[in-house]
Amino acid sequence: MGTVDLHIHTTASDGTMTPAEVVALAKELGLEAIAITDHDTAAGAGPGVAAGLAAGLEVIPGIEISAAFREREIHILGYFIDPEDAALAPVLDWVVQDRDRRNEQIAAMLERDGYGVSLEALKRENPGAVIGRPHMARALLAGGHVQSVGEAFDRFLAEGKPYFLPRTFLPLQQAVDSIQTAGGIAVLAHPLWWGFEDDFLRDMIAAVKAAGVIGMEVRYSTYTPEQTAYAMALAEEFDLLPTGGSDFHGAAKPDIQIGAGMGDLNVPRAWLDSLRARRDDMR
Ligand code: AMP
Ligand code: FE
Ligand code: FE
Ligand code: ZN
Repeated sequence: MGTVDLHIHTTASDGTMTPAEVVALAKELGLEAIAITDHDTAAGAGPGVAAGLAAGLEVIPGIEISAAFREREIHILGYFIDPEDAALAPVLDWVVQDRDRRNEQIAAMLERDGYGVSLEALKRENPGAVIGRPHMARALLAGGHVQSVGEAFDRFLAEGKPYFLPRTFLPLQQAVDSIQTAGGIAVLAHPLWWGFEDDFLRDMIAAVKAAGVIGMEVRYSTYTPEQTAYAMALAEEFDLLPTGGSDFHGAAKPDIQIGAGMGDLNVPRAWLDSLRARRDDMR
């Protein structure tokens, strides 16, 4: 049985490849299915599904919504959503408005200090995309102010650095509800990525489960083998379905390839089938 990749970003958010380019690459790499999961937008999902139909690759329409647990950022993945569902639009519009407000402030601070990053230019260069810090990082790179996107985060944009500003996150329950209302199932993204203390991590997993999340990412591109084993044990302990994906962003995260991370990701197709079966049960 083949493998799948259930966590992929496109130009609809902060990836550098279009949905059609992602589909072509996944097909070339021999994956059996992928999910398009852009940050806070479903705009890449429809084009991805259409490209998948044309190319003969199964594409799951998805999303990755930023939410808060006790004021800390967490990410909730949604699979099998209807990207056009009317319930999704107001929630995502709210997120984008909050992002816009923050983007304007960060761009103004950079501009003031001579790092000219124009939000207007970013919007022009990334039409329709949900703009975030990665786009500013790329602008800093293009302007010759840093040597890499990573350096832009390390020196300017990461939390605690001079040009970081917080955003307002959706309450966890609202993120899960909007995914379910749009016909999807909710899954916890990269729980070990944030570096939470173990007690906090467990409280967080219990809370997302109580909110309606039915799975969690146990295979993820940056996990060490120890983290993968720990994530698997947590999924079993909390009775959550195992899922996995690369979090591919194209050239924005050059170390991450579709279907692979530091080693092979090997997310079995059977895990996708189990997610779909759960979705069918919930309908
Ligand atoms: P934002 O949603 O605007 O707060 O930006 C967060 C996004 O920036 C994450 O989803 C990552 O894709 C990206 N990101 C965060 N930290 C880094 C980093 N150190 N290097 C490259 N990309 C990063
Ligand atoms: Fe991202
Ligand atoms: Fe994420
Ligand atoms: Zn992601």
